[in-house]
Amino acid sequence: MSSTYILVSGDQRIGDLVSLAEGTTSTAVVVGPRAVADDVAASGVDAVVWLGEPTPGLPAEAYAPAVAALVAQARPDLVLASTRPGDRVLAGTAAAALGAPAFTLVTAVTVAEGAVELTRAVFGGIAQRTERVTGPAVVVVDGGPAVVGGSAPVTEVAAEPTTTVTVVESRAGDRAGVDLSRAARIVTAGRGVRAQDDLGLVDALAGALDAESACSRPLAEGLGWYAHDRYVGVTGQHVAPDLYVAVGVSGQLQHAVGARGAGTVVVINSDKDCPYFAEADYCVVGDLYGVLPALTEALS
Ligand SMILES: Cc1cc2nc3c(=O)[nH]c(=O)nc-3n(C[C@H](O)[C@H](O)[C@H](O)COP(=O)(O)OP(=O)(O)OC[C@H]3O[C@@H](n4cnc5c(N)ncnc54)[C@H](O)[C@@H]3O)c2cc1C
Repeated sequence: MSSTYILVSGDQRIGDLVSLAEGTTSTAVVVGPRAVADDVAASGVDAVVWLGEPTPGLPAEAYAPAVAALVAQARPDLVLASTRPGDRVLAGTAAAALGAPAFTLVTAVTVAEGAVELTRAVFGGIAQRTERVTGPAVVVVDGGPAVVGGSAPVTEVAAEPTTTVTVVESRAGDRAGVDLSRAARIVTAGRGVRAQDDLGLVDALAGALDAESACSRPLAEGLGWYAHDRYVGVTGQHVAPDLYVAVGVSGQLQHAVGARGAGTVVVINSDKDCPYFAEADYCVVGDLYGVLPALTEALS
């Protein structure tokens, strides 16, 4: 049977990785505390290799050479890792050790007879391409939610970390981060919002809808009104909320593809020819400075 290694550095949310590994024998290699290894063992994988209690003061990346050596020795058909920072490093190091290509934006994988077939989004998500790898492949995708299922054996394999890297300091960032990919409702501000002070209108609507606030790229990158993890699009966050409300957003392809997974799309725009209306379930032609307060009041 084909085999998959799932690389995990300290976070047991690997539901999507377990789904991609279905039909293969899956082994999770866990860098992190024993509690994480135990949670991963109850996530639907077939086996867990735990590298032992991590040395305090060393980041997960210090274990990348040890993980790569394990993977190179096992030579699984497929290696999966999440897009979380430590996991990406483990994946890159494993790919180098295997001499295997690494892929992102993968939506489906099949492994058969030593070959891996991958379907993934290309051209900013407007097309899907299927690729075949004859040999091992490394895939990095969103880890997905934590899942509960099964109880796999945990084998401890003591691993020596490299000590050339240490954590010098950890401190909280200035702003709380947000995982928009998990938000059920999102209200997104675009350049139709004329001033930073006016974002209160967008936040008020988001509050009334119990939604996260987000933005188009210019508001995060050019204007700096939002943190980078708040912009949606091909180079930003890919979101799939039940409800996506775009306010003063023109709906250029680079933005719209980031929200193609949304359920109901509401577009509020003063231009009746705004391109985003073509993708909307509900189109509100109007000035956001009038529409937003009225909508917020009605919802409140
Ligand atoms: C390589 C590349 C990658 C990119 N990646 C991304 C990405 O990931 N995400 C992203 O968002 N963009 C991305 N962009 C930029 C993208 O092409 C657009 O420029 C951007 O999305 C436009 O943002 P916007 O819709 O907020 O602004 P605009 O295009 O300027 O649209 C503003 C809209 O507001 C409307 N409006 C104006 N006043 C009002 C009002 N009073 N009431 C209601 N509506 C009003 C206008 O009619 C207009 O439709 C990328 C571009 C490139 C080249």
